[in-house]
Amino acid sequence: MRMIVARTLADCRAQRRRLGRVALVPTMGALHAGHLSLIEVAKMRAEHVVVSIFVNPTQFGPTEDFNKYPRPLEQDLARCEEAGVDLIFNPSADEMYRPGVPDVIVELPSLSTVLEGKHRPGHFKGVCQVVAKLFNVVTPDLACFGRKDFQQLRILRAMTDALDFPIEIVGCPTLREPDGLAMSSRNQYLSPDERQRGLAISRGLFAAEAEFKRGINQTNRLITTIQKPILEHHLSIDYVAAVDPQTLKNVDVVTGPTILAVAARVGKTRLIDNVEVG
Ligand code: AMP
Repeated sequence: MRMIVARTLADCRAQRRRLGRVALVPTMGALHAGHLSLIEVAKMRAEHVVVSIFVNPTQFGPTEDFNKYPRPLEQDLARCEEAGVDLIFNPSADEMYRPGVPDVIVELPSLSTVLEGKHRPGHFKGVCQVVAKLFNVVTPDLACFGRKDFQQLRILRAMTDALDFPIEIVGCPTLREPDGLAMSSRNQYLSPDERQRGLAISRGLFAAEAEFKRGINQTNRLITTIQKPILEHHLSIDYVAAVDPQTLKNVDVVTGPTILAVAARVGKTRLIDNVEVG
């Protein structure tokens, strides 16, 4: 079956009706191997795969990179076609947010005011708004999200639960470059020097993971270990935290699954990454 590109809600709904069990992979485009790994999981879990490509304006803050966010659409479409995607939903902003239609805001304050939510006010409101709309338009049976954005994954699971979407949320592993840098569409902003310094984030996380395996379970020590290379390479830290994957509350001593998470800026580029221990 040839891949179909739908640009309107009506066309997306009509095309979706022709498909059976569907897995949705929501993206903002600028697709890399991390996105393609989500598509692979989707293919294993469902008969048909729908990928949305939409740089969602409502999840960007006023000083963030919405305008300069990369939009290599032709390349993205070719990658999806090659990956065996059935349907692309690529709406315009006016199609998603029709002028005159009031905003509906879905908020999960207990999960969205910490970590990313604290540093990117309004970000998760935008994410929940667009994903709820995508769920209603595509009506997938399941949807795949990356664990690199673990807070987003947690919040979208909670939203799906709370609003009774009959959709299974599937978390997928973080894909990394051979040297450890977590893949991200934003990595293309990095100069060669920044790219090298950005490695300090995964190095710090891996060092803490190794330390945990050696028996250190106090998170203040693990956090210090993570911070060391990041500070040495002069990144500006938004947060380094150890949190419970369910509640997102800080953990003092690792006694069960715990996420070690980092957000830091290299030059103007903000990078996030995390590992799970415990
Ligand atoms: P984005 O296009 O950045 O909004 O990401 C779309 C989806 O791809 C989200 O579910 C992300 O968590 C996921 N994703 C982004 N980077 C990676 C990665 N390196 N490995 C796995 N999934 C990723």
